[in-house]
Amino acid sequence: MSSLSYVTPTPDSAWGTYLSQVDRVTPYLGNLSRWVETLKHPKRALIVDVPMEMDDGTVQHFEGFRVQHNLSRGPGKGGVRYHPDVTLEEVMALAAWMTVKSAAVGLPYGGAKGGIRVNPRSLSHKELERLTRRYTSEIGIIIGPQRDIPAPDVGTNAEIMAWMMDTYSMNVGATSTGVVTGKPIQLGGSLGRVKATGRGVFVTGREAARRLGLDLNGARVMVQGFGNVGSVAASLFAEAGAKIIAVQDHTGTIYNKNGLDMAALLATQNEFGGIGSFSGGELIENDGFWNLKADILIPAALEGQITAERAQRVTCKLVLEGANGPTVPEADDILAERGILVVPDVICNAGGVTVSYFEWVQDFSSFFWTEDEINARLDKIMGDALLKIWDTADRLKVSLRTATFAVACERILMARQERGLYP
Ligand code: NAD
Repeated sequence: MSSLSYVTPTPDSAWGTYLSQVDRVTPYLGNLSRWVETLKHPKRALIVDVPMEMDDGTVQHFEGFRVQHNLSRGPGKGGVRYHPDVTLEEVMALAAWMTVKSAAVGLPYGGAKGGIRVNPRSLSHKELERLTRRYTSEIGIIIGPQRDIPAPDVGTNAEIMAWMMDTYSMNVGATSTGVVTGKPIQLGGSLGRVKATGRGVFVTGREAARRLGLDLNGARVMVQGFGNVGSVAASLFAEAGAKIIAVQDHTGTIYNKNGLDMAALLATQNEFGGIGSFSGGELIENDGFWNLKADILIPAALEGQITAERAQRVTCKLVLEGANGPTVPEADDILAERGILVVPDVICNAGGVTVSYFEWVQDFSSFFWTEDEINARLDKIMGDALLKIWDTADRLKVSLRTATFAVACERILMARQERGLYP
């Protein structure tokens, strides 16, 4: 663990998990390991106060963050999270995983992330807009189309990206569509962006299943998180013939051994903002989720969900990390010992940043691609990246996670070395 005076990571915290992943790859970096400390030091971390007048006339203050972890390979790129548990340490880890992810799929970006410590469900629509606009103004001193490009993450969506784009544009005096990605289509958004992360989870999962000899037709899939990532991934697996036997979100866990009806589940999600009241399955205790018998587990909610204790209980053959940082390092070892293959977040959920990159390129050229073109390019980039990672894992005899870090960190540290240290 490196020591920064402003955070105190624990082994299972998000930043602690990331540091341990860097330690695991360091022996494979050869001479580049001389630069490895750069990966343990975020380049820039901005903490902002976000004051807001509430609808009832009171004034509340919210903590906001934007961290640029590494910019060696290009401008910062990474989502903005609205969640009551957001901390600087969490945002640092999420930014660092963006650095690794962008490099793993070969995108010309560094890594960044932002967040506000708030429960967005507790705000009115107007409050959400005011909060977003003030936050955007506060971080406006470090973001920009060539500097750092935010995108949606947990608790944020295309509408919030539209407000961010508009606020930034007002402040600089020119419409600047390239400052955020994940925007609505009519504001320079890209076709295929909403489904891109879930689609990438499916594409990498399908390839991993093929290599394991696991037939997707009839495979039992369980999903934690039924938001942007989880719902799209679940729907694509269902379309491929898999049975989605359990889904868990913040409102409960629904189980049906014959497979949940995805269209009906999505309708419940859209109507109630959660799946807990769904009648097409049995509502079971949340902790029971981890005992269910399945072939594929997709964590698509938050970090630290697969603990050492849960890793002993899961029965699947394959874990597809839709979420960022869902598996703590000790659990990673337990899953490996138990012969359970993990496709790590830093490649599995890279579909979102890949189509964000397409959106950014399209905004610059003001020329927009068809959804088929986008999906074909996404599948190619993800497929090629996975192939290289798999070969690296076989060559070094390491997990897919360490192999992804090896491929990515070599690219990041090579860029660092070639640029040289300023001054
Ligand atoms: P989202 O806000 O759309 O959905 C989050 C889901 O997690 C919701 O269904 C929510 O109910 C559920 N959830 C929250 N707390 C939970 C808990 N304690 N137990 C069970 N479920 C819980 O967010 P999203 O965009 O789908 O992101 C999900 C994960 O995927 C995050 O880790 C995010 O960083 C990662 N990710 C997202 C993208 C993207 O493009 N949106 C890209 C890469 C990675």
